[in-house]
Amino acid sequence: MSARVLDGQALARAMQEEIRDEVAAFTAQHGRPPGLGIVLVGDNPASEIYVRNKLKTGGEIGFRADLERLPASATLADTLALVERLNRSDAHDGILVQSPLPKAMGADAEQRVFDSIAPEKDVDGLTPVNVGLLVQKRAALVSCTPSGIIELLDRERIQIAGRHAVVIGRSDIVGKPMAILLLHRDATVTVCHSRTPNLADVCRGADVLVAAVGRPGLVTKEFVKPGAAVVDVGMNKVTDAKVAESLFTDGHPRLALFRSKGSVLVGDVHPEVADVAGALTPVPGGVGPLTITMLMRNTLRAARARAGQTVS
Ligand code: NAD
Repeated sequence: MSARVLDGQALARAMQEEIRDEVAAFTAQHGRPPGLGIVLVGDNPASEIYVRNKLKTGGEIGFRADLERLPASATLADTLALVERLNRSDAHDGILVQSPLPKAMGADAEQRVFDSIAPEKDVDGLTPVNVGLLVQKRAALVSCTPSGIIELLDRERIQIAGRHAVVIGRSDIVGKPMAILLLHRDATVTVCHSRTPNLADVCRGADVLVAAVGRPGLVTKEFVKPGAAVVDVGMNKVTDAKVAESLFTDGHPRLALFRSKGSVLVGDVHPEVADVAGALTPVPGGVGPLTITMLMRNTLRAARARAGQTVS
């Protein structure tokens, strides 16, 4: 058996077309496009790529998308002042602070900066107000990756209600909001993490398995009930030949890609899982494109709410 591919790229394209029309209507009505301000501090290479993709997608579908950069030497006070300026800006409906902030800023810097974002502009759904509203099932702005996953499961008609969902990972940005969204859709939810004993056994009980860990190929066949839907959130750049060879058999195009480029992007789910799962998101082309799309949808929602429009 080979799992059905859950094509996040195709869904992202379709959703972006819908958003483009809605953005054009907003712009015509209000005389300005919805605006997103992205704060990037320092020069983390992965963050540079993520931010570039967000700016590009935003620009392509009609948003105003501004990069607000600070050097790696910036202080916490500089960063808080920048967020405050965006909080007050009329042109910006959404604010995203790219994680991670430079370590030198201090252990609690990220929390303090996220906390300072105006909740109505918090398009990553990370402020205490929006997390609280999410827990109470009345959030307007929900973390982008988990809400994109729910869209994908819905569009692919994968049943959630009454099923057992297992989420591996308990981060504030993916694991926890994912578990809450699945709970709100009437799944019975188990959350696993680095201290979970017998991880494979627990995961094998899942009808819907979401892996958000950051470990290449952690989820092997033994983790998966035959026919289960498996969502691979992991985005891991593999540069070690041994790891690449443990994931892909000789002759596999991804191994050839690794050999020519010296690196390959892989998820947390081992490719062999395709033999067991009923449905599976690919990496790349699964969850990643949906995360950016949901960021755009959240920015449009924030813009409408700020303009006094009713937001569903
Ligand atoms: P994180 O490091 O904040 O959290 C990882 C979680 O995995 C932790 O809760 C930890 O307890 C758990 N964990 C670690 N080792 C484990 C193990 N051996 N067994 C079980 N659980 C273990 O990471 P995150 O921000 O939640 O991101 C997770 C992955 O998802 C990363 O690869 C990240 O790059 C990727 N990601 C992808 C997207 C996307 O759009 N595709 C978005 C966000 C994050």
